[in-house]
Amino acid sequence: MHAWGKGRQYKRRSVDKDFKKFSGFETLRRIVDAAPNPLVRAFIAFLWATGGRVTETLNLRNSMFELHSDTDPPTLFVSDAPLEKRYRKVAEYYKCQLCGEFNPKRRECLNCGADLMAHGER
Ligand SMILES: [Zn+2]
Repeated sequence: MHAWGKGRQYKRRSVDKDFKKFSGFETLRRIVDAAPNPLVRAFIAFLWATGGRVTETLNLRNSMFELHSDTDPPTLFVSDAPLEKRYRKVAEYYKCQLCGEFNPKRRECLNCGADLMAHGER
């Protein structure tokens, strides 16, 4: 099954079909319920619902969310979310925020010369 978001096609994942082992929804619910406060509980539930990594989720901004109330249930779209592992091992590169180039750890972007300490993202 495929779905679309903001004009991009992606493959919808299923825990039943795509994973050899799965802890089960009851285990996930216990993890969420064990969170020390509502903010952490919501964060863990969001990770679970989206499949996002912690660093990816922490980099989301309000401007990336779009609520569609005309669907039942209402649907929350997230666009332009940073997917860190899609390209390369993140810890060894700085991504230039001006041109998008991945650079080995250094001060200036190899592509556009931008200061990666001011405009880079690890
Ligand atoms: Zn650059």
